[in-house]
Amino acid sequence: MIRWLVILALAWALYRLIESGIEWLSRATRELHGEAREGRRTLESDELVACGGCGVHVPRSRALVRRGQAFCSVGCRDGGGT
Ligand SMILES: [Zn+2]
Repeated sequence: MIRWLVILALAWALYRLIESGIEWLSRATRELHGEAREGRRTLESDELVACGGCGVHVPRSRALVRRGQAFCSVGCRDGGGT
């Protein structure tokens, strides 16, 4: 009788261990996926800004900025206006 209780307790402990292991794994996976999704979203939502020289729209991350004004290229930045 006692032996059965020990086996039952061991089985329960093993079950809890596996359960928590799976939970940890899935959380780690979710965080990884979340980070990837976050990165992609940042890339997709790259705002378009109008060039101060020619008016062409370029992603903010690729625009050349001078005094708060975005430009599409060095030519527009150095040659345009002001
Ligand atoms: Zn331009």
